[in-house]
Amino acid sequence: MSGDSSHAALGATGPIAFAGSPIDRADQIRVDPDALAARMDWRAKVLKLDGLLPEIDEMGGLVWGTLADVPQEAELVFLGLMDDKACFAAVPDQGATGPAYAMPRAWQAIQQLSPPDLAIYGGARSLVDWHARHQFCAKCGSQTKITKGGWQRSCDNCGAEHFPRTDPVTIMLVEHEGRLLLGRQPRFPPRSFSALAGFVEPGETIEEAVAREVWEEAGLRVRDVQYIATQPWPFPSQLMIGCFSIADDDQITLDVTELEEARWFSREDVEHAMATIGTEEGPFNAPPPAAIAHSLLKWWLKERGQ
Ligand SMILES: [Zn+2]
Repeated sequence: MSGDSSHAALGATGPIAFAGSPIDRADQIRVDPDALAARMDWRAKVLKLDGLLPEIDEMGGLVWGTLADVPQEAELVFLGLMDDKACFAAVPDQGATGPAYAMPRAWQAIQQLSPPDLAIYGGARSLVDWHARHQFCAKCGSQTKITKGGWQRSCDNCGAEHFPRTDPVTIMLVEHEGRLLLGRQPRFPPRSFSALAGFVEPGETIEEAVAREVWEEAGLRVRDVQYIATQPWPFPSQLMIGCFSIADDDQITLDVTELEEARWFSREDVEHAMATIGTEEGPFNAPPPAAIAHSLLKWWLKERGQ
């Protein structure tokens, strides 16, 4: 599926950052070592990374090299096919992976890259980061090896198979009588408010995770949890599951270990904030377009905030 057609299906949220990669994952090649080897020639493209950060050219695009640029001992992951060319990324040394997305260079990259390039980068980053952090078997502790073009690691000692993981996180809008609940974590920049969020725990449905998080963080009971959209978030590898829910009362009991503040905002507040992102105007600083919370607020203004 091309980036454009997947974006078109998103309706009221508009495009979701990090979604819509133009790369065909070509599973039939991953699972076939001969087919994969046949693709590993001078035509193959290798995404240039500096640790986990993308190299960006003067036009603001991702930089691709060839297999000749990759050290002999590097592990390669097969990202898939683009324009019938095999695309790869090399797993960086664990020591070169560095801290998460709060780095200024990562944010710079997010703002610079086109939506298709951002999706390619996000997917590749999550995958190579997982490999860098999972060199040893979680079952027996032996060194594992890369298999299936990088979509698996296998342990020759105990036979265990390990798969690149993505962790589900719910992120939710909560509405009460036309107003929206948003909160701020202590680490947020000044004036910034966003949707509440939390990891889905083992044994939980998405709906249960939404209800639990809102109860834990804001002391509110919610109902009618509705799924809106998802976002693959590559810092390091989460699936953000955007939801909407209704609260029957507006009495907030804040969990101060999670949130510094939570408040109800009117439609006018949200509209004004979305129109003044990154400025000192507006009632609060709304999440930037790269965050799914931004897409959820757009959805709310269009679908619910009338
Ligand atoms: Zn093992």
